Amino acid sequence: MPLHHSEDPKGDPKKRALSVNPFYGEANPVSGMTEAPPKHRLPDGPLPPTTAYQLVHDELMLDGNSRLNLATFVTTWMEPQAGVLMAECTDKNMIDKDEYPHTAELERRCVAMLADLWRAPDPSGAVGCSTTGSSEACMLAGMALKRRWAKKNSDRYPSPTARPNLVMGVNVQVCWDKFCNFWEVEARQVPMEGDRYHLDPVAAAELCDENTIGVVAVLGSTFDGSYEPVAELCAALDDLQERTGLDIPVHVDGASGAMVAPFIDEDLEWDFRLPRVASINTSGHKYGLVYPGVGWALWRDADSLPEELVFRVNYLGGDMPTFALNFSRPGAQVVAQYYTFLRLGREGYRAVQQAARDVARGLADRVEALGDFRLITRGDQLPVFAFTTRDDVKAYDVFDVSRRLRERGWLVPAYTFPAHREDLAVLRVVCRNGFTADLAELFLADLSSLVPELREQPHPFTRDRDAATGFHH
Ligand SMILES: *Cc1c(COP(=O)(O)O)cnc(C)c1O
Repeated sequence: MPLHHSEDPKGDPKKRALSVNPFYGEANPVSGMTEAPPKHRLPDGPLPPTTAYQLVHDELMLDGNSRLNLATFVTTWMEPQAGVLMAECTDKNMIDKDEYPHTAELERRCVAMLADLWRAPDPSGAVGCSTTGSSEACMLAGMALKRRWAKKNSDRYPSPTARPNLVMGVNVQVCWDKFCNFWEVEARQVPMEGDRYHLDPVAAAELCDENTIGVVAVLGSTFDGSYEPVAELCAALDDLQERTGLDIPVHVDGASGAMVAPFIDEDLEWDFRLPRVASINTSGHKYGLVYPGVGWALWRDADSLPEELVFRVNYLGGDMPTFALNFSRPGAQVVAQYYTFLRLGREGYRAVQQAARDVARGLADRVEALGDFRLITRGDQLPVFAFTTRDDVKAYDVFDVSRRLRERGWLVPAYTFPAHREDLAVLRVVCRNGFTADLAELFLADLSSLVPELREQPHPFTRDRDAATGFHH
């Protein structure tokens, strides 16, 4: 059984077979092709390409319009030239570094550019790799932390009493729960408290002990777009080291923020300028401005990435080191990342991210001015803001707003906050490149025309909250 269900998992597959429009390509009664192919078992024979294309294309028309999706951080618009380059590279396998040495070279250059951008002390000595996204990058970074800790504690690990743990805010993205689950590391999470919706540095340091492999700081919380205080966290851990001798490394999950802060918050110290920061990841496919399928993991120096985690294989010819969970993977996204770096440069990225921030801040202010809403964040860190209904709004809630916005095509997730603030439910708007000031204007017009109708409701309507918003962090 597949891991996700269609709307009607119990329906009879025969009755739900695709029907073929006789007008479509060769699928017409004259050529004898009248029967629709089955949907849930491999068809007995082939279909003409035009018919197969049209069938698949038609079904996908019911997917949402990605540009109206204000839930995702992932890039939904690239230039046509980027699309052409990607199409030229779809057949290139990133792992075949000897077969495609220039794709491998572009990957190396991207790593070097990121090491420089993130202020590695010696950019030529930083090590890093591309991945399928931040999730894989976080797995690799987490494994490096665990291995470093295990080596340092080889006199007492493995043993039933020494269970490694990783400290983080409760607001981390689900990839960190996955890491801890898959690699058998205890997740020690700092809860939210009052109006603090992310990690508290002192509380994080208090959770550390001799089995802590590292602390994760998120640059750009998925819950509200706020930056976690990386420098303050490092200071709290310096203090801990002075008191106890524990030397705990920090990993920065910069899935979004590592491609925002270097351009528009240049003075913010969150990166390899802080000696305690051992590794950083980002999603090339978020504010790195590339279509989905690329992330990056970098370590400040070779010492931060235990050598034995890096594999060398010779059966593709050559002997190139790799660090990855996958083996085969497309090269197109890496090429597109290099293209985008080349195309925009620092100034281009700065302009694009500043434009996204301007849209977010302007829209947040105007949502607040509608009167019914209270802002949780204002779009001044990630170009993202979260808001909720004011306490005196009783007729509707954020889930109703999310559902009604869907009628106009806008996808805006509504969700509750985690531990200690489960009472708080918010809407979140992610302003990405391509969500222009014009589109923001249309969004605001739709939202403000809904408010009077929502105020007429006798009470909040949306019962099945998760189904209403379909939100996954
Ligand atoms: C999106 C996100 C991830 C996961 O990244 P993918 O590239 O989607 O795998 C991890 N951490 C944070 C903070 C994120 O925003």
